[in-house]
Amino acid sequence: MSKRLTEDKRITDFFACDVFNDAAMRAYMQPADYARLQRVKEQGEELDRELADKVADAMKEWAMNKGATHYTHWFQPLNGLTAEKHEAFISIDKEGNTILEFSGKSLSKGEADASSFPSGGIRNTFEARGYTVWDVTSPAFIKKSQGGTGVLCIPTVFCSYGGQALDKKTPLLRSMEFLNKQAKRVLELLGAPAEKVFPNVGAEQEYFLIDKETYKKRDDLRFTGRTLFGAPAPKGQEKSDQYYAKIRERVLDYMADLNEELWKLGITAKTQHNESAPSQHELAPIFNTANIASDQNQIIMETMKKVADRHGLSCLLHEKPFQGISGSGKHNNWSLCTSDGRNLLDIGKTPKENKIFLVFFLAVIAGVDEYQDLLRMSCGSFGNDLRLGGHEAPPGIISIAVGERFAHMFEAESPLEIKSNVKEYIKMGINWVPKVRRDDSDRNRTSPLAFTGNKFEFRLVGSMQTLATPNTVLNMVTGEMLRKIADEIEAHGKEDLDNFVAALITRLIKEHKKIVFDGNNYSQEWREEAKRRGLMNFESCVESFDALERKEVKDLYISSGVLTEEEMHARREIYLNDYANTVKIEAQTMLSIYRSQIEPAVMRYHGELAKAAAALSELGLGKVQKSKAAEIENLLTAADNIARALDGETKNAQRISEAKAKAVAFRDRVVPLMLRLREKADAMQLICDKSVWPFPTYSDILFYE
Ligand code: ADP
Ligand code: MG
Repeated sequence: MSKRLTEDKRITDFFACDVFNDAAMRAYMQPADYARLQRVKEQGEELDRELADKVADAMKEWAMNKGATHYTHWFQPLNGLTAEKHEAFISIDKEGNTILEFSGKSLSKGEADASSFPSGGIRNTFEARGYTVWDVTSPAFIKKSQGGTGVLCIPTVFCSYGGQALDKKTPLLRSMEFLNKQAKRVLELLGAPAEKVFPNVGAEQEYFLIDKETYKKRDDLRFTGRTLFGAPAPKGQEKSDQYYAKIRERVLDYMADLNEELWKLGITAKTQHNESAPSQHELAPIFNTANIASDQNQIIMETMKKVADRHGLSCLLHEKPFQGISGSGKHNNWSLCTSDGRNLLDIGKTPKENKIFLVFFLAVIAGVDEYQDLLRMSCGSFGNDLRLGGHEAPPGIISIAVGERFAHMFEAESPLEIKSNVKEYIKMGINWVPKVRRDDSDRNRTSPLAFTGNKFEFRLVGSMQTLATPNTVLNMVTGEMLRKIADEIEAHGKEDLDNFVAALITRLIKEHKKIVFDGNNYSQEWREEAKRRGLMNFESCVESFDALERKEVKDLYISSGVLTEEEMHARREIYLNDYANTVKIEAQTMLSIYRSQIEPAVMRYHGELAKAAAALSELGLGKVQKSKAAEIENLLTAADNIARALDGETKNAQRISEAKAKAVAFRDRVVPLMLRLREKADAMQLICDKSVWPFPTYSDILFYE
């Protein structure tokens, strides 16, 4: 366990000590070189070999002073995880001397065998060459093990020999570039130019913590990240006594350690609290530029798991680890900012600011409306589908809650007057508590996307998913609407611009009001209402992946430069394959647990009952034993049949070669059998003596000490 913070150890003393940030660069580089690197980062100037060599040298010195022996190009392949291959700094020079070396070339470009990562058919296995290329805008950092091994991690993008993106980060960076270009055009036309516009993202990461001993005894958690069996514990979350509840000491110690690790890596872990389900928690850092936030979120997830291990805990990041209680999401707060610090989604104080706000606000809304399927797709996975659509997480229909104030604007179909100076106070009826200002809007927790004052909160994102894809989509669809707006204003010219923009705003309100909904998204009425409005509804993510085949979507990806047709096609294949593989592994895990653990245990108990029933029946007793034995007999027979069918259907689905048909077969033919097998096994659990049950139950897992 790392040392606790003490009075003489302040956060500011060690914050970002393991990051090669501006301060480290200034300390290790010549001022002129540092200034040139800043221009590369901020203005996209080309990075030449000479400068790369200098940066590499500085980085190596810094990293070695921190005890690092290796470096790695750190990237996010299409399996949704992070990848790293360590290289020692050690080398041999021409004279045969051992030297420590790290060149600009090694910093800028690496080679990785691409054939072992998913590529969706982009390349054949014999064309294995893949490249990792340094993302200059995301700072390098050192990952340390408990034993003190240090590895310098260089954030990179990953592409094939032909330059096709093979990772989640490349499209994110491209979408930021596209958004920047279009947003700047609009700002210029509206008379408020900016040097750069970029998205800020702050994600609230939900997770479960359980005791490691219980985790190790559950093959389902080990192989699939979620429980495939388990009757509910007697107590769930019905008393709402967990959300924001006092954090138990063991978890608090974990959080303290986790925060310290994250702070060292320059991640501003800020908010922590218990979430609604038992043993569920949340961590939110302060928002950051989208690509950095996305990188940092990967580090947060990795660190959460690592630190849990040290505390005898296991961190579950799956979207639905336990049936019957809340799953985990990752609310993605997104806004648009200029390099001089203006938040373009802030309503502003003057009519001019207000107009700019409305244009950007409506561009997001219009983008979401036009590309609902893309938003759904961006959060689609088998695991997240288990969470969406239930009565706990926003459903598969995309809509936006804008809050009372803006809801009026859509109802009236006319732009809103600025009233930001009006201060309303909450009436508490107590004199001695401080006056509290009322927020502009109440919260709507049921909406997939909500405008929350000066940002949009995208709540569909699953706890395990990368932030890269949802933000790529938000950036791209907003960029596209801004492009159209800029084109229109340009075509119109400068004359009578104010009225032209006002009319444009009104038109956008009218055209896109159908995506705005501030009611209860969980209700049946909303499903019906959404249908009347003609909104898309995806009961499963499998259909949403078809978004990548829709003409308008293809056009958008290609024209914005975010993905080529080939890259899009590859991604659809990967999503579908991932869906099928996930279900396949779950089905196989279920079968193995059922056949080798549950069935034998229940059979033993069944045998004991039968013996007791026979002995007792000679005395004219044992009615209960007999009826219980009969009940178990029925369950065993039914479960045996279901397990056979599940085995058969899993093998059948596995034989299908076309990706979508395969995913559909797993969803429609395998998943229902998994649910039925679980139902029988969970019923057995409730009949059997607890001591015969072969692994920890929900009660054991969720209510640990
Ligand atoms: P909630 O009350 O919704 O649970 P939290 O405080 O848990 O909010 O998290 C809100 C997240 O939104 C934080 O990561 C915060 O940094 C982020 N955030 C705040 N303002 C912005 C903004 N303008 N743009 C993007 N993210 C923001
Ligand atoms: Mg929160």
